[in-house]
Amino acid sequence: MAGQRIWEKPNVLDFLGNLKRTHYCGALRASDAGRDATVMGWVHRRRDLGNLLFLDVRDRSGIVQVVFNKETQPEAHAKAEQARSEFVVAVEGTVTRREKANPELATGEIDLVATKLHILNNAKTPPFPIEEEISASEETRLRYRYLDLRRPKPHRNLALRHKILLEMRRVMDEMGFIEVETPMLTRSTPEGARDYLVPSRVHHGKFYALPQSPQIFKQILMIGGLDRYFQIVKCFRDEDLRADRQPEFTQLDVEMSFPRQEDIFSVIENVMVRACAVAGIEVHAPFPHMLYKEAIRKYGSDKPDMRFGMELHEVTDCFPAEAKQKLRIGGSVFALAAPGAAGYSRKQLDELAEKAKGLGARGAYFVKVAAEGITSTVGKLIGAENVKKLAEACGAKTGDLVVAVSAKEEIKGAEAAALVAGQLRLQLGEALGQIDKTQWKFLWLTGFPLFEWSETDKTWVSAQHPFTGIVEEDLDLLEQSERRGQIRSKGYDLVLNGVELGSGSIRIHRQDIQERLFKALGLTEEQLRQRFGFFLDALTYGTPPHGGIALGLDRVTMLLAGEKSIREVIAFAKTTAAVDLMAESPSSVDPGQLDDLGISVKLYVLQSECGCGGRWRVFSERMSQGAQQSPGAATCPESPQYFLPLVGISNEGRWWVEHLDAGSRDWKRVLER
Ligand code: ASP
Repeated sequence: MAGQRIWEKPNVLDFLGNLKRTHYCGALRASDAGRDATVMGWVHRRRDLGNLLFLDVRDRSGIVQVVFNKETQPEAHAKAEQARSEFVVAVEGTVTRREKANPELATGEIDLVATKLHILNNAKTPPFPIEEEISASEETRLRYRYLDLRRPKPHRNLALRHKILLEMRRVMDEMGFIEVETPMLTRSTPEGARDYLVPSRVHHGKFYALPQSPQIFKQILMIGGLDRYFQIVKCFRDEDLRADRQPEFTQLDVEMSFPRQEDIFSVIENVMVRACAVAGIEVHAPFPHMLYKEAIRKYGSDKPDMRFGMELHEVTDCFPAEAKQKLRIGGSVFALAAPGAAGYSRKQLDELAEKAKGLGARGAYFVKVAAEGITSTVGKLIGAENVKKLAEACGAKTGDLVVAVSAKEEIKGAEAAALVAGQLRLQLGEALGQIDKTQWKFLWLTGFPLFEWSETDKTWVSAQHPFTGIVEEDLDLLEQSERRGQIRSKGYDLVLNGVELGSGSIRIHRQDIQERLFKALGLTEEQLRQRFGFFLDALTYGTPPHGGIALGLDRVTMLLAGEKSIREVIAFAKTTAAVDLMAESPSSVDPGQLDDLGISVKLYVLQSECGCGGRWRVFSERMSQGAQQSPGAATCPESPQYFLPLVGISNEGRWWVEHLDAGSRDWKRVLER
């Protein structure tokens, strides 16, 4: 029928029947010339030159150019005229050498001259082209992930991920480790995040927690005599998301009995050397070590990027008391030399100072080491001698800019100024082209404090998790609350190119010490029995000394694939707001399901942006399922041309809508029922 599109007349479609693929599209070469071949895949592109029609057909392996000749194969040619982008086809034909090869394509020396075309399925026009480089937003790509996945890059990344994981399993097996699965429906494992909870239908009012890590289980496997355990495992943490975090992520989780720290390091070094080799990257073990304190003082970070220098130096004593008072410097001052940046303009320095303040600096002070002499923004305050001393302390050379910072607020037990300077080091290093991107710099960090101060809770909390071993000499400090910050842990981190790949520790294996640690964390006898009773019991039945580590495999793969975001190496990634745009989860559920679980939702809260630059917030008791009547729309109180359609809200329960004007801090109720 004229004007009818192919998906409206499905009888045009062919069945696969007994047709057998003989070659992958990308596998055909000049040496196949003269052979018959049947390929299957998607129409990548169509070019109609009248008598000759070309279809580029694509599958996982690549693209082959198929030629349809009107004179010799009129039937196949006529059918090819119906094919459109992303239609699924099977082509039978003969491999033929091209007169002029296309060097852009691996199959560029040949054509497949079609004798028969089977159209196996049609396709709507995709919202973005299936190309290596596309300009579609990440949101669109995640929403149509099945199309995004057709591109060569996601294929490469997922294949690399598979190879890395496979190699890791091989290495672990070779070293005598056994992969053991641990439960997903379990109870809370403290890793410092919130738990994802799963309500129990059978036990009303009770909840499973998804594991933040298999930490307790792997330790129990050591008590169970497994000796060497590993698992490639999903972990779930409900925390504020950042660019390189996902609510669910994959770890290589490892635990072993009777280990020295070096034994664990060498296991992981083996794994990483082999994983890097899979990605064609040569690295050598052993990896260097650094103490946490040194990392903070020299690099202002607990995950220093060792691909470049620009080390930090403490220069507090270049600032006399009077200058400190004028500049309102409370704590220490840290500085670094930015190579070749002495020519920075006034405007650039102002921007840098603003940036530093945004990172938590009280102030940023500059020294320019130019051929004409040394000048400083604080020259008058600290005097020429100190300016010179400051530049020398940083090893500044002619042409360098020295950047010194103090911190706005002191953090108990931390070098706040160094942390700010550390972030400036990274930004300046990047801007000044100091980071050698061809390098792979692994680093073990050790000597961590056992506790860190939590400003929000105003108390000491575990720096890692509460099963981390304690340096024996410091054990007695556990009961001295004023010295908590000095206790050293037996924890360690592995860092690659400034990214934390994982952390682990030699564990507490004695029940008495574990109990003392829980008490130091403020747990009452009753709380620790209720939360960890089973584990404390297990510890009393002959627990071997043990230790382990977990590596974040999304990050490992991201780095080895040369990607900047872990979402590029996860097949079905969630957004930074923890939403799966394709599957549309999280989602509201049927009221009946909630009844089964004995749960009622207090209020649903939906947030969205308003066209006026402000925000909407809808509170409702019930969500509507399917095509129920919606209560209509709310109108923006600022600019009435903007509306918020109240889709998905059920008119049956109570609901109301609030609006926040741009720049305002007060929500206004604009509609309710
Ligand atoms: N369970 C820890 C984590 O997930 C790793 C470890 O201590 O082995 O970070």
